[in-house]
Amino acid sequence: MLDSTQNLITNKDQAAKNCHRPTCAEISLDSLASNFRIVKELVGASVKVMAVVKADAYGHGAVQCAKRLEAEGADWFGVALPEEGVELRNAGITRPILCFGGFWRGQEGLLIEHNLVPAVYRLDMLGELDRVARRESRVLDVHVKIDTGMGRLGVRYDAATEFAESARVFKNIRIDGLMTHFASADEPTLNEFTKTQVSRYESALQQFEAKGFRPSFHDLCNSAATVSHPFAYGNMVRPGGILYGLWRDILQPSVNGEAFQNVMSVYSSIALLKRVPKGDSLGYGCTFRTSRDSVIATLPIGYHDGFVRANSNRGRVIIRGHYAPVVGRVSMDLTIVDVTDVPGVRLDDRAIIIGEDGALSIHAEEMAKLADTISYEITCGISGRVPRVYV
Ligand SMILES: *Cc1c(COP(=O)(O)O)cnc(C)c1O
Repeated sequence: MLDSTQNLITNKDQAAKNCHRPTCAEISLDSLASNFRIVKELVGASVKVMAVVKADAYGHGAVQCAKRLEAEGADWFGVALPEEGVELRNAGITRPILCFGGFWRGQEGLLIEHNLVPAVYRLDMLGELDRVARRESRVLDVHVKIDTGMGRLGVRYDAATEFAESARVFKNIRIDGLMTHFASADEPTLNEFTKTQVSRYESALQQFEAKGFRPSFHDLCNSAATVSHPFAYGNMVRPGGILYGLWRDILQPSVNGEAFQNVMSVYSSIALLKRVPKGDSLGYGCTFRTSRDSVIATLPIGYHDGFVRANSNRGRVIIRGHYAPVVGRVSMDLTIVDVTDVPGVRLDDRAIIIGEDGALSIHAEEMAKLADTISYEITCGISGRVPRVYV
């Protein structure tokens, strides 16, 4: 009993096999591939594409997504942590992998063993790596992250000269990429700031070149910039969200991203149907009261699964081609919906939590708006308890 419980929590593939609860996330690898091809076409043959698969591919499953993207011709993969890179290597991914967040003390050997390229942003990181590389008689590639206005990780653009000068002593390190990240590529009113970031990046690149560095890779663009700022392509782009068909809340508002297909659909099904007379209250806190004789369905999905509590009395699902509103509060494992207006509703009917059904759709962006967040947090938040099924 304990064993099978542990499997459910720690191993997603095992979870898919052990899962009897009809709640799952279906991942369309064909849609992922189609979105990737749109990006390839958009940027053209002279610009490489680093597919961003950090955070378990935004909840979609990094290994499965990377395998398909590698087959489709992804040039690089982007992850946050070296551990995420190791997971990809163990699954047989051979394309270069960049770790955006760098590495932590003690992970230098891991980078070498698994051939992972870290982003670096401190001289002492270069020093550590140089020491380990020299011991192994190796020259290690790194990409330097330049902070051109995001204010997060990165060597500040106005400290680039100093950094480049100091980096010259590390003979077992090759600075093979120079990257930066935009703060507001999705925001048309801040286009000037994006341009400022690009020129700060360009001057940093000149500073590195003046000190004798010749980074092969020049990359700046996330999804929003890949779509809206072609002048900033450099020779590689780093899209994440649009590969997963997330675009309504991360691209510039004027962009129509209908061509990007939804990749993750989340399904559950009706576990119990009941009649509830007019005037009864439903759920924790008795926050909903029936205004008519109603038919109420219970779904085995709750906020631990990532069906965020902000859906309480506001969200909706799709059943039999009709929207059914969430009534009362979403609880940890269960949610109730009003199916009075769903003709022919039956036990075991499928409920679409995220996904499309003909003209009806519920996208992660819609749920994100209810929760005052962005779609990325919704798909990342679909928890490990929800098995991923790849189609
Ligand atoms: C997450 C991330 C990206 C991808 O951003 P999207 O908005 O998902 O396209 C690109 N570069 C870096 C450094 C990132 O951290």
